[in-house]
Amino acid sequence: MSSEIIKHNPFQSMIDRFNIAADILNLDDSIRQKLQRPEKQITVNFSIVLDNGNVQNFEGYRVIHNTALGPSKGGIRYDTAVNIDEVKALAAWMTWKSAVTGIPFGGAKGGIICDPRKHSKTELEKITRAYTKALSDIFGPEKDVPAPDMGTGPDEMGWLMDEFSLLHGKPIHAVVTGKHLHSGGSLGRVEATGRGVSIISLLALEKLKIRPAKATAAIQGFGNVGLHSALFLYGKGVKIVAVSDVSEAFYNPDGLNIPELILYYNLNNKTIKGYPNSVAIKHEDLLLLEVDLLIPAAKEDVITQKNAGQIQAKIIVEGANGPVSSDADQILHEKNILVVPDILANAGGVTVSYFEWLQNSLLESWRIHQINTRLEDILEKGFDTVFRVAVKYNVTPRIAAYIIALKKVAETQSVKEFALEAPQYKQN
Ligand code: GLU
Repeated sequence: MSSEIIKHNPFQSMIDRFNIAADILNLDDSIRQKLQRPEKQITVNFSIVLDNGNVQNFEGYRVIHNTALGPSKGGIRYDTAVNIDEVKALAAWMTWKSAVTGIPFGGAKGGIICDPRKHSKTELEKITRAYTKALSDIFGPEKDVPAPDMGTGPDEMGWLMDEFSLLHGKPIHAVVTGKHLHSGGSLGRVEATGRGVSIISLLALEKLKIRPAKATAAIQGFGNVGLHSALFLYGKGVKIVAVSDVSEAFYNPDGLNIPELILYYNLNNKTIKGYPNSVAIKHEDLLLLEVDLLIPAAKEDVITQKNAGQIQAKIIVEGANGPVSSDADQILHEKNILVVPDILANAGGVTVSYFEWLQNSLLESWRIHQINTRLEDILEKGFDTVFRVAVKYNVTPRIAAYIIALKKVAETQSVKEFALEAPQYKQN
């Protein structure tokens, strides 16, 4: 088969890594089957009246992958490319993400097939409320707790919280995280994923003994994750030589002035298109630049068997979920590129979501210093554990992260569900 026609499936990529880790752990077949499949998978169809009076139908999903470690947790994505396989993979990644970082949540994900840029605020509110109504039996602070993802943010989370509260006749803030501060959101949540990516990037640079002030970086994606990663790393002296969004990709070998670029982006309808102090490059070329640090912070499957051989970065920190397909793993490994996997690299978001959920549940409000210190502690511990396990089993950090997550979830799952003793693992 020519590589041109390989269609990547994020769920298959998840399963490929899962199987490698499960083999190493000698995981029992029944538990393996159980953890490969979501606990629940719901499709909802609903319609809203558009601003022009027409009625439009929408299809949405919520997949609950696993609840062994706690209530399921994960974002809701609004995008035209949303499909059930993608949502299933993203839901499973949430399970592994919380398990690796030690957050007491299971994993879920949701999505609606729509183009949020083509809808007014009023229409987006109607879409969000209709989706919430359709899933009101599923969501709940101790059951399933949504959050933002691609195409959604604090507005959508606020509407979801409000609709859920109306349906239950009382305010229920802890049903969703990533809300505006005035709706019970947490300080530090908006920038949490990007902050986490930059914490992890600095740890990875340190591993290769590269000083931040001497490091160069290219960042794909200038949404919430890419923008904040760029800003934090710029603040640490890293030279950001390239960034992109859907409209354009830019390169400046002397380093981009990120605060200025953000100002431009905010005044330019949330796009970097037309930014002057740089040279436009092809989107696909950003990934191939000779930099110390490459942060894919856009979508799944942007680094595949097709382009992995040409990557020149020393480190890849996965800001997005699933940016590297499983067929590229071995190629990157042979090139000696240090890949910090998504389930660790972008876990800052769900970590501060956990803090928001705790604050809502305890009726507390934490200071930003407390939030950032705890976030840093959790990610540093996660990073150290992943690299320790990678050495112990002589595997890549990605497989190490899966080993940690699988072991934890499998042990809890066996005890809870099958009333069995926790599985025994082969000693290494
Ligand atoms: N959507 C984010 C992620 O993929 C955040 C999830 C959450 O905070 O629950 O990690």
